[in-house]
Amino acid sequence: MWKMAKIQRTLVVLKPDSVGRSIVGEIISRFERTGLHIAAMKMLQPSKDFFYYHYETIGTMISRRGEKAFNRQLNTMMKMPVIAIIFEWVEAVEYVRKLVGSTEPKAAAPGTIRWDYAHMSFDYADEVDIGVPNLVHASGSVEEAEKEIAHRFKKEEIFDYKPLHHAFTR
Ligand code: UDP
Ligand code: MG
Repeated sequence: MWKMAKIQRTLVVLKPDSVGRSIVGEIISRFERTGLHIAAMKMLQPSKDFFYYHYETIGTMISRRGEKAFNRQLNTMMKMPVIAIIFEWVEAVEYVRKLVGSTEPKAAAPGTIRWDYAHMSFDYADEVDIGVPNLVHASGSVEEAEKEIAHRFKKEEIFDYKPLHHAFTR
């Protein structure tokens, strides 16, 4: 067994703004070049019920962000297909969140995906009544990652292989 305890899987969703701007390849490269590898990937256009489960049942978004933000986000996520990816590598959940950056692109650190590929504030998004377009979803905790992965992928859609670059990492 080559896998160690610290190796985790996390869910990344390339949102409608990534797909619609045709920058999916670039964004996937940002993850891959750090050593994360794809364990599963698919394109889909989920229903409202699906996103309700993702954002509220798992993500408790209404209590954290309010009903208005939640409804806006649902509408924004329904605009185009999305691409769901499972990335795997050392402490992947925390690491991927760091690469992605904080929720509001305006507040995200330079060098993160949400900073580098967008400039948008909560205030502006609220004013024009949209979910803040911030390109990617990433699981917020190990528990959230497990639930989100189980929600989107069947066991047989997730692949277990040892990437060649791991010859240099252990
Ligand atoms: N969101 C928004 N307005 C808000 C809060 C959140 O449009 O005031 C959107 C934003 O796209 C965010 C998503 O809803 O990525 C989910 O919110 P969450 O608090 O889980 O942020 P994340 O975990 O994505 O950083
Ligand atoms: Mg979240």
